[in-house]
Amino acid sequence: MGGLSAAADLSRAGLDVTVVERAASVGGKMRRVESGGLAIDAGPTVFTMRWIFDGLFGDAGQRLEDHIGLIPAETLARHAWQPDRSGRGGNLDLFADVNRSAEAIGDFAGAAEARAYLDFCARSADIYRTLAASFIAAERPSIPGLVARLGPFGIPALMRTVPMRTLWGALGDHFKDQRLRQLFGRYSTYVGASPWAAPATLMLIAHVEQEGVWLVRGGIHEVARAIAGLAERQGARFRFGAQMDRIVVEAGRVTGVELAGGERLPADAVVFNGDISALTDEVRPVPATPPNKRSLSAVTWCMAAQTSGFDLAHHNVFFAENYAAEFKAIFKNRSITETPTVYLCAQDRGEGSNHPAGAPERLLALINAPADGDRGPLPDHVMADLAHRSVGLMQDCGLELTATDDPVVTDPAGFHALFPASGGALYGRANHGMMGSFARAGARGKVPGLYLAGGSVHPGPGIPMATMSGRIAAARLLADFAGDRRTVMLPAG
Ligand SMILES: Cc1cc2nc3c(=O)[nH]c(=O)nc-3n(C[C@H](O)[C@H](O)[C@H](O)COP(=O)(O)OP(=O)(O)OC[C@H]3O[C@@H](n4cnc5c(N)ncnc54)[C@H](O)[C@@H]3O)c2cc1C
Repeated sequence: MGGLSAAADLSRAGLDVTVVERAASVGGKMRRVESGGLAIDAGPTVFTMRWIFDGLFGDAGQRLEDHIGLIPAETLARHAWQPDRSGRGGNLDLFADVNRSAEAIGDFAGAAEARAYLDFCARSADIYRTLAASFIAAERPSIPGLVARLGPFGIPALMRTVPMRTLWGALGDHFKDQRLRQLFGRYSTYVGASPWAAPATLMLIAHVEQEGVWLVRGGIHEVARAIAGLAERQGARFRFGAQMDRIVVEAGRVTGVELAGGERLPADAVVFNGDISALTDEVRPVPATPPNKRSLSAVTWCMAAQTSGFDLAHHNVFFAENYAAEFKAIFKNRSITETPTVYLCAQDRGEGSNHPAGAPERLLALINAPADGDRGPLPDHVMADLAHRSVGLMQDCGLELTATDDPVVTDPAGFHALFPASGGALYGRANHGMMGSFARAGARGKVPGLYLAGGSVHPGPGIPMATMSGRIAAARLLADFAGDRRTVMLPAG
């Protein structure tokens, strides 16, 4: 997304742009695979922060809705809990309408928790409003820079974003019901972090979802295709199956890239969209991410399947009982707990769907995993066991599922192979601790002419953030070439 949005902005500015992509098509993590004769989205599924995409297309004189079919989701996600030892489990939907969610929470966990939810919403909205423009859209934020940008009330506003506390800890201010703490703690996994180590600032993700989650007609991969189309119409060229092996530096500045096989492509500037750890020390402005600082990886199963017994929404989460054990296993023991929580995206469900009942449907199942893919694949018996336990958890919640063909399975080693030097980490460096958000590189590389975009640099992972990073990189590049050294800030919403 970072590379594509940079290509769109740079080609619009009249630059001669070539996109060098090692895969056979665009999308990167937003890839699409095939199982049972169906094309299944194998990466991101939750589309938020539409304003970033409206901005990208709008600046090119186009309307997003003319290129991507977006349907607002009324149900944000369906959550199910495995019955625990006391027999307590249950299902809870969250809705785009906050009051409807509060009502559902009231029915699920009582009136006090419904009131707590409304307080939590107000707090997450406040954090979001403080940081949307000052942090997300800035070139490379620092704490003094943030305070300056926030004006006279900068310090109190920043303190209210609670960077010193963990997300899990701060959620305890609001919710007594551990299931709700689990539900909202899970938002840290959207950036590959543990709720027990991520700053409470990530509460803002709850607000991002309340501002709108959209389903993409034809699947989310269409977003990547649409941005590539925009860039192409403005003159950008795409080379697929082209592996960039080296960024060429001569006389202290970037002069192009070298492809596998030795071909050199001369360039005045390069925007790099791979994982930052793939760069050499010569050009990387921050250290490579050590394995113990990597964000989450995952094991994913993409399949065509017949389902029954549980009314699936588009986004479904099946929570295992011991959430703390999952993150301890991943970040401390570098393993996967016995029964991990399962996210299931039922891609034919949700608003605007006309999927015939009983027909095989497209599913993506995902569990979190440590990003140790560079140590080799998970053994077959471990993968079989994980599949068995994940299906067992969903069965405990009522879902029966029969795949109609072999699923396409990707483990951390698979992600590492797709995204070089990542170890399979899907979100760059883990956003852990108060300074985690400031540890990412900004838009400039270490040598003139190199720019950085993507989920491993500022403002971080997720489709909208990575898209924003590409726009920031393009703006920095254009400003540098125009001799303007001022900090780049994009309009935020
Ligand atoms: C399973 C999964 C679920 C996710 N869920 C969500 C979600 O629901 N919502 C959300 O917002 N985000 C989600 N994300 C995160 C989101 O997909 C990413 O943050 C975002 O798509 C990353 O974009 P990027 O710009 O970093 O580029 P990437 O997607 O990492 O793409 C980089 C591209 O560069 C290419 N490349 C790398 N190195 C080279 C090289 N040397 N030569 C040539 N080409 C190269 C790669 O092939 C790839 O196409 C998810 C990710 C995954 C994998």
